[in-house]
Amino acid sequence: MKWKQQLDGMQAYKPGKPIEEVQREFGLQEVVKLASNENPFGCSPKVTAYLQKNAVNYAIYPDGYAQNLRSAVANHVGVKETQLLFGNGSDDIIAILTRALLYPGVNTVMADPSFSQYVHNAEIEGAEVRKIPCIEGAHDLNAMAAAIDEHTSIVWVCSPNNPTGVVIADTDLREFLAQVPSDVLVVLDEAYIEYVTHPGHKETLPLIDEYPNVLLMRTFSKAYGLAAFRVGYAIGQPEVIAKLDPVRAPFNNTILSQAVAAIALSDQDFLKSCCAANEIGKKQYVDFCEKHNLKYYPSDTNFIFFNTNADSDVVFQELMKRGFIIRSGNALGAPGFIRVTIGTEAQNAALLAHLEEVLKEQGVFA
Ligand SMILES: *Cc1c(COP(=O)(O)O)cnc(C)c1O
Repeated sequence: MKWKQQLDGMQAYKPGKPIEEVQREFGLQEVVKLASNENPFGCSPKVTAYLQKNAVNYAIYPDGYAQNLRSAVANHVGVKETQLLFGNGSDDIIAILTRALLYPGVNTVMADPSFSQYVHNAEIEGAEVRKIPCIEGAHDLNAMAAAIDEHTSIVWVCSPNNPTGVVIADTDLREFLAQVPSDVLVVLDEAYIEYVTHPGHKETLPLIDEYPNVLLMRTFSKAYGLAAFRVGYAIGQPEVIAKLDPVRAPFNNTILSQAVAAIALSDQDFLKSCCAANEIGKKQYVDFCEKHNLKYYPSDTNFIFFNTNADSDVVFQELMKRGFIIRSGNALGAPGFIRVTIGTEAQNAALLAHLEEVLKEQGVFA
């Protein structure tokens, strides 16, 4: 068959091992997954209550324009409804963007390490990928600006960055945007925006008016605790959104996902309590790293990326045997590092006790 050449040898996304599989393999009663930055507190109780009460007629297609959710998000964010594009998770938005803007002959610029889907989708479209190494977990924005040429179509800026957790300060971001040509789309992936506490970070919404080539990308999968429902969205100028909308599949959010996302948005108290708990949990990891002199990057997210000074694949395996699934930095080009989602206080304490044991076994400290 006449496959796209770039599909040769390409692998599907490899998700972490499911909890049930780890339970079976290691004979464990309880397994805690701290590998995908999901909310350890679940979602708003209002969502759960809605799902228990609402039997919908599932024979009918959902609203392809997601009108109710659109109004709710437009209201919450403070933009016009025509400034929003909804996706089946922000993964879907990334696919829409690359399908609309990337093809053989153009290039796309991104940080390394950063979110894997930017590369994956760019490769499917046959575009050249320009990966700019991070410095201390932060985007090297000067080098990224220098990598842009007349064939650059999309620049991906992940703030805070997955997997490093580092957020970009407002002054740095503005200095960068001022250097980007106006015909290059800058995608600001803000999957973890709700968790940001860095004082140098400012509201990013005004950037859309100042730089019409900026598109913000947000999701209900992380702080809102709705990863299973697959709702993400982009915020941009109406002209940009109107160009992207025809590329979107007609019914890319289900009837239930539209409903629960709007409900989750209405429960900002739940969100605040999760963010407050996340700060406490983050401190548990920071204290551990400080105590054992392990290098970590300052995190503005619900995960932390730090150097175990051991083989991170071994650490991953040893923690899995003990009932904790995390991410090894090996696959991310950061050997020794692990990425751990910040769980509940009890989960964090238990994981850190196991990690201390593992790192002693590995001879990292006495
Ligand atoms: C999790 C994540 C996403 C994907 O989120 P979905 O909305 O679930 O598709 C996008 N970007 C980053 C940086 C993420 O960490």
